[in-house]
Formats: sequence, C-alpha cells, structure tokens
Amino acid sequence: VRRAVFLDRDGVLVAEGPLGWHGPSALQLLPGAVAATARLHAAGFLLVVVTNQPVVARGQMTEEELSEAHRRLCDQIRAGGGAIDAVETCPHHPDADLEGYRVDCQCRKPRPGLLLTAAARLGIDLQRSYMVGDRRTDIEAGRKAGCRTIQVMTGLPDAPRIRTTEPPDPAPPDAVVADIAAAAEHILAAP
Ligand SMILES: [Mg+2]
Ligand SMILES: [Zn+2]
Repeated sequence: VRRAVFLDRDGVLVAEGPLGWHGPSALQLLPGAVAATARLHAAGFLLVVVTNQPVVARGQMTEEELSEAHRRLCDQIRAGGGAIDAVETCPHHPDADLEGYRVDCQCRKPRPGLLLTAAARLGIDLQRSYMVGDRRTDIEAGRKAGCRTIQVMTGLPDAPRIRTTEPPDPAPPDAVVADIAAAAEHILAAP
C-alpha cells in the first residue's frame, strides 16, 4: 500500500488560464512544480493529478485531445526530472452542451470519485495521503476521500464554488501554503 499526493492541475501544477481550451501550449508548468514532484517521488509518494475538465462536456475538445495534452504534460515533467504516476480526469458537467457528458457524476470534484478510483487501482492508503488544490472544491474532495488537505495560493482560492449538487463542507484545509513547492516542503516535514 502506497502513499500518494493528489494534485489538482490548474492553479497548482500549471498556470490557471482563462476558461476554455486554447491548445496544448496553454499548459504552462508553474515555477517549482517539476522539482516538487521529483522530491515527493523520491520520498516514495505516488503523484496523481485529479482534474475537472468540463471543456470536454462543452465540446471544446475531445477526451482523446485532452489525453494527448496530458501525455505531453507528463512527458515534459519527466524530461525535467519530475514524476507523474497517473492523471484522473472528470470530463462531465451538470449543464454540459454534449448530452453524453451531462451527468451528475461521482467523479467531478468536490466529490471524491477521482481519488477513490486511483486509490483502488494503484493501492493507495488514502488516510496517509494528501490532496493539494487551489479551490474549495479540491479541499472538499480530499476530505471526503479521507486525505490530509493543503491549499495553495497560486490559483483561484477566492473563486466562487463551482456548480455542484454536493452539499458544501466549510471545514478549512489542514494547511495553507504559497505554492506546490511549499506544499512538498510541508508534506516532507510532516511526521
Ligand atoms: Mg484548480
Ligand atoms: Zn465526472
């Protein structure tokens, strides 16, 4: 059984961009992100990206195009000496333009489905794992999965809660730090 650090994508690993899809070049790794994944990997953590991507539900890109963008992102991180073990994506939205994606799914954060799926597949001990995110949505999903939670300030910490039928959970994160580098520092310093 392994420990994991679940990472939100936008605002944590890559820069938060304008809503919508602007091509694979729009994924810009944040400073310190690659080194943070390298340090956590060296300490034995699995690195799992968990991301809501309603661009698919809006018909702005296909799941195949999104997978390709994530493959390139992982290649770039590994080329820089970092590590990503898995990318789990929710392509759904309750108001999706594409009918097939218009579902009240269990994977869209703040629900914990993406974390639970990865945990089952990779053999992750959720109680000894962490969720790192920039939004309430991420913290709620991490708490529901039983993980420790860390909020970073590089994304949209003050953005309104996303549209969801999930009741809000106002509990604060276990820690609030500047960025993914500080999150890695916090995790590696923990007993
Ligand atoms: Mg985010
Ligand atoms: Zn979903």
